[in-house]
Amino acid sequence: MADSFNLLSLVRPNLRDLKPYRSARDDFKEGMLLDANENPYEPFGENETTGLNRYPDPHFTALRDAISSYRNVKPEHIFLGNGSDEAIDLLIRLVCEPGKDALMITPPTYGMYKVSADIHNVTIVKSTLKPDFSLDKSDILEKSKDVKIIFLCSPNNPTSNSFDSEELNEILNNVNCLVVVDEAYIDFSSKASLTPLLDSYPNLVILQTLSKAFGLAGIRLGMAFGSEEIIQYLMKIKPPYNINALTQQIALNAFKSVDKVAERISSILESRKKLESELAELPSVLKIHPSDANFLLVQFKDADGTYQKLAEKGIIVRNRSNQLHCEGCLRITVGTEEENSQLISTLKSL
Ligand SMILES: *Cc1c(COP(=O)(O)O)cnc(C)c1O
Repeated sequence: MADSFNLLSLVRPNLRDLKPYRSARDDFKEGMLLDANENPYEPFGENETTGLNRYPDPHFTALRDAISSYRNVKPEHIFLGNGSDEAIDLLIRLVCEPGKDALMITPPTYGMYKVSADIHNVTIVKSTLKPDFSLDKSDILEKSKDVKIIFLCSPNNPTSNSFDSEELNEILNNVNCLVVVDEAYIDFSSKASLTPLLDSYPNLVILQTLSKAFGLAGIRLGMAFGSEEIIQYLMKIKPPYNINALTQQIALNAFKSVDKVAERISSILESRKKLESELAELPSVLKIHPSDANFLLVQFKDADGTYQKLAEKGIIVRNRSNQLHCEGCLRITVGTEEENSQLISTLKSL
């Protein structure tokens, strides 16, 4: 473990003793609620849910408990954000002093870390992946001295591979900054989540989301798992009602159907396998990178041309060919069986 890890020394000085907003729902959630200047009447229109005239639970207790049972992580170790985007933003905001501090990313990777760093005027230190998309561990360890956070995405977007667990352990062991491991695609992965390591590493933060495997990108629910201390800070600096009532209700419902979610995941993985073998037979395809997620990074002879022609036919994929080590590559999400076969037949016709 990073023995000398000291969260307090990482946290921005102005946030160490922050007095958070005390919301009307912090103390009382039931009774005659005349404390929050809400409207006492239900809203107009047909709503599938009631109680929308009331502010949502700022501590999202019921949802936190459901996630706790499902992921086997104690509620005190769980923070919820308005998408992972908000968790990323708040983690940077918590420890990085604008115009002064730095964070590390490992390109090619998810674009939001850089955007969020840019918004906060935080310097970006890059440790590029090796051409086989693995981490450059010694480079990361060396550069870690200059940063407050390292963002690692595993399985990584857009490269679709997971990083070696041993290497992740070694990094966690040998740095004194926060290590944020983004597991947005973990439910599609053959590798296990790092959540069992939370007790061993006070510098570990794990991000997950309902946007991918749960099929709920529309409700915006991201999760951050970390030490109780980190989670308490995030709860203090978040907007008070960051998870709206509809999101809380729909997410709670989703955790009642986790068996069906598991079936969906299996079926998407089956489809990925099929799509992969069909793509491999196309003469326009040069390489399919091994995937541990619900998308494929595919190298084409003419990526730009293929991208354009697919778009003209109404099939939209992501052109990643200008990203490091991704020359000629398109990122293709595994769709429904019908979508996948339409994609293949369109590619054949080009
Ligand atoms: C899709 C994705 C997310 C999800 O972000 P949300 O804001 O939760 O929708 C997070 N990280 C990565 C790497 C992703 O690809």
